[in-house]
Amino acid sequence: MRQTIQFLAIFLIALFCTIQTFGQKGTTRIEPPFWWAGMENSNLELLICDASKPISGWKVTIKNENVILKKAHKVDNPRYLFLELEIKAGAKAGEFPIELTDGKETIIHSYQLLKRKKSPKTRGLSSNDAIYLLYPDRFSNGNPKNDSVQGMREGADRTNKGGRHGGDIEGIIKHLDYVEEMGFSAIWFNPFLENDMESYSYHGYAITDHYNVDARFGGNKMYLKLVEECHKRGIKVVKDMVYNHCGIEHDLYRDLPAVNFFNNDAKFVRTNYRESVLVDPYASKSDLKASVDAWFDTTMPDFNQKNDRVKAFLIQNSIWWIEYTGLDAFRIDTYFYSDLEFSAALGKRIYQEYPNFGMFGETWVKAHTMQAYFTQNNGFRNEVNTSLQGITDFMLSDALKKAYKEKMGFTGGIVDVYYALAQDFLYENPYQNVVFLDNHDIARIYVEMGRNEQKFKSTLAFLFTTRGIPCLYYGTELMMDHEDGEDHGLIRADFPGGWKGDKNNAFTKKGRTKTQNLAYDYVTGLLKYRNKTAALRTGKLMQFVPQDGVYVYFRYDDEKTVMVIMNTDDNRVITNTERFSEITGDFSKATVIPSGKKLSNIKNISLAPFETMILELN
Ligand code: CA
Repeated sequence: MRQTIQFLAIFLIALFCTIQTFGQKGTTRIEPPFWWAGMENSNLELLICDASKPISGWKVTIKNENVILKKAHKVDNPRYLFLELEIKAGAKAGEFPIELTDGKETIIHSYQLLKRKKSPKTRGLSSNDAIYLLYPDRFSNGNPKNDSVQGMREGADRTNKGGRHGGDIEGIIKHLDYVEEMGFSAIWFNPFLENDMESYSYHGYAITDHYNVDARFGGNKMYLKLVEECHKRGIKVVKDMVYNHCGIEHDLYRDLPAVNFFNNDAKFVRTNYRESVLVDPYASKSDLKASVDAWFDTTMPDFNQKNDRVKAFLIQNSIWWIEYTGLDAFRIDTYFYSDLEFSAALGKRIYQEYPNFGMFGETWVKAHTMQAYFTQNNGFRNEVNTSLQGITDFMLSDALKKAYKEKMGFTGGIVDVYYALAQDFLYENPYQNVVFLDNHDIARIYVEMGRNEQKFKSTLAFLFTTRGIPCLYYGTELMMDHEDGEDHGLIRADFPGGWKGDKNNAFTKKGRTKTQNLAYDYVTGLLKYRNKTAALRTGKLMQFVPQDGVYVYFRYDDEKTVMVIMNTDDNRVITNTERFSEITGDFSKATVIPSGKKLSNIKNISLAPFETMILELN
């Protein structure tokens, strides 16, 4: 008897040893690493990968009466197994064993179900918001100790414009007051997830681990703290999501579960970058395949989102991050390169759990119809509904730049802005579109405006007064400049004052140059006015056909009427306001925004070349 007990004890210890090793990085990985009880959707699919054992044929037992194993999916690679589970409504938070055995050896993993937060208060985005877009590697280095991390491929080198500069979450948290004081209600962060690539890894769009924030940014715990600190200040968090591709050093690519996890047999074929083929009635099949199914770049394998395992992996990962952190919205990268059916399934699943969640997609396209094509309930694409509330309004941004680059004719110049907004009938809600002047992929607006301060100011005036959700790229409030062109290293320059020893600290009024303060004061003046003026956020828009390079529009509600006059001509103009009497009505006076200067008569308004005037009518 005693011998049997001893034997049992040794056996249990041996078993316990296997449990200890199971789940460690490098031996076995299980994703998602944990889940929650009480989700609206009861499905959960676990990815299990053993570093050395061919577990795919092993028998699986789940020891929890409320967790049902619906199916174990084998793939080509025998070290992978995908478990389709149902978490029944009765499942409680806690741990339960998942047992794998081949009859000789048994591996037990203890899987954890957490308790859901009382109510996930994700708040979404609306035109009441104003977004600040910020590059984590380039904003502030709060912890130089994590600039280079042992075991990770690329370390920091601030002298390399395409290298890592050491910016991190601690640095961002230190300067959240700066963002709050300007008046922004949301921050869109360029991606934080691990990008353990050989080089050019700072940008974040080549993900190598879907469940971990890059250690060089501070890791998951620091990210949780960031969300908490943002929420404390009433700032919403927008996470940048990349579904189309991952980094070439991702485990799913280095150790392929199956060749069909990636498009083109997991081999590089460059995309033609043409969204038009999705709608073109004359498109060839090869062009269509070369658009959506080819790779974005040599280092970014293109996920096959038609594969059910891939689909479940990506969608669950999104749910995991929302539930884990309580963040508010997603900006979805390279939206049109994803399969539309996948995007629709993603949207549906997210809203099932979080009805108030926000989503907008990057649609860098060449037609208004193409932008609208990807949005929800747009009325002309009935086969799939994406649930996408809004898009990054490249068409409007391009039109605005054109207004200051060419003179107005019957078409062209400022007329393009007028026409851009006239296309808003294509959207269910155009106020959900994200309006921007510049971003991390294109030249800064000050450079685009030929370094003309008046033009620069006018684009800002437009940004904060037209319809939609304005989004300002970090540093534009400082009139950031760079060499001509769109060199990513230059347009994503370090924020001055974010690094110890920086010559000028633009986070403070004293540290900013005179020019930086002029731009900063104008941005904050406009934004503060927008924040207290519902007419600019949710009010109606009325625009008039431009004449002689002058474009006039109004934002109005029951409380206020705001008139915006944009002179895009290189001459001083005097605008007679009689043409606008259907809305100016009884108004005779106005206050200039944001200066506060009073106009005692609005009959004729004089504007300098390229000047924009914002008037609150009294
Ligand atoms: Ca750092």
